[in-house]
Amino acid sequence: MAKKDYYDVLGVARDASLEDIKLAYKKLARKYHPDVADDKAEAEVRFREINEAYAVLSDEQKRTTYDRFGTVDSAAAGFGGGGGPFGGMFDLGEIFEQVFSQMGGGGRARGPQRGQDLKESLELTLEEVLTGVEKEIAFNALDDCTSCQGSGAKPGQGPTVCSACRGAGQLRQVMNTAFGQVVRTAPCVGCSGTGRVITDPCPDCKGKGHVLHKKRVTVKVPPGVEEGNYIRLTGMGDAGAMGGPPGDLFVILGVKPHDVFNREGGDLHVDLPVTFTDAALGATVEVPLLEGGTTTIKVPAGTQGHTTFKVRGKGIASRAGRRGDLHVRVVVMIPTQLNDRQKALLKEYAGAGSQVAHGHDGRGWFGRIVDAILG
Ligand SMILES: [Zn+2]
Ligand SMILES: [Zn+2]
Repeated sequence: MAKKDYYDVLGVARDASLEDIKLAYKKLARKYHPDVADDKAEAEVRFREINEAYAVLSDEQKRTTYDRFGTVDSAAAGFGGGGGPFGGMFDLGEIFEQVFSQMGGGGRARGPQRGQDLKESLELTLEEVLTGVEKEIAFNALDDCTSCQGSGAKPGQGPTVCSACRGAGQLRQVMNTAFGQVVRTAPCVGCSGTGRVITDPCPDCKGKGHVLHKKRVTVKVPPGVEEGNYIRLTGMGDAGAMGGPPGDLFVILGVKPHDVFNREGGDLHVDLPVTFTDAALGATVEVPLLEGGTTTIKVPAGTQGHTTFKVRGKGIASRAGRRGDLHVRVVVMIPTQLNDRQKALLKEYAGAGSQVAHGHDGRGWFGRIVDAILG
C-alpha cells in the first residue's frame, strides 16, 4: 500500500511553517484521538497517520529528507533503527503528550518524575589536560527536604488522599458535544494530578518536598580532553518527584588558553626565541616542555626565522591516549641595543660582502619576525 502524503494527511501546504503544522496536528489529533472518536477503529488508523506525519514534518531534518526522497525510510535516507521504516523513530504517546502538555489539556496523572539534569562548567589548564586531573566542584541541586523526607507535609502530618479524585490524580469528565458524548480524563485540579494534598505544608520547603542543597563532587577528568567535552555524573542532578529517579549532572569541560603553548588536537606548538647569531652559526638550544623542564634541539647553521622543528611525543595526550608532537617554531631575535664594539663588528660583517637575506614579501624577514615576537 502506498503511503499517504504527509502534507495531505495534515492538510497543510508543502511550504507550511512549523507553526502551521503544529496547529493542524493539534486540531486533527484532538478530533481523531481514539479516546474521543466515535468510530474507534477508523480513528486509530487516522490518529496513527496524523502522528506519523507530524513526527516527520515537525522535525527539520526528517522533513528535508522526506521532501527530497518522499520517505524517511532508513534505506533511502540513512536513518538507523530497525523494524520497518519507522522502527524506533518515535513514540506516538510521547509526541501526543509533548504537544498537549504545553496546552494544559489532556495528559495523565502525574506519577514519579525524573529530576532535572544539571550543567556545571569546569575550566582546566593545559597541564591538567596533559596529565588528567581530579577536581572537586561545588554546585546546587534540589534534594529531598530533610525535615519532611520529601513529602512536603509538616513533619508528623503526612499528605492526605485528595478527596476530589480519591487519590487517582485524574478526573473523568463527560461532555455532551455535537459529536455525541465525549469522555475525557484530565488531571485533578485539587491535587495537581498527584492524588494527594498537603493541608499543612512543611515550613522548611514550603510544601515542595525539595530544597536546594550545596553539593560537592570530585570529577575525574581523563587526559586528552578537549574544549566542550563533558563528563556525565549519573544521579547527581536534581532529585526526582514522587519517588522518581534523580537527574544527571553534566560537567562541561573548558580549556584555558596557555601563555606559551598552543594546542592543536594532540599536538602542541611553541614559538622559540633564538638569537640571530645562534640561528646564523648553529647552536643547541633549550625548548620548554608542558610538563615542566626542558629538552634540547639542534638549530643548524643558517636557520631561517619560522623554521619549525618537531620534538616527537612531547605534545599533549590525545583522546586516543597517545601523546602528539611538539612543534617548535624558531623566532630569530634581533638585538635592539648594541654597544660600540658590537656595532663595529656588525658593520665589518656587513662590509665583508656576505649575502643579505631578503624575504619573499615586500616587508622582508625583519618585519615578519617582529610581527611574530610582538604577536
Ligand atoms: Zn520539607
Ligand atoms: Zn485530586
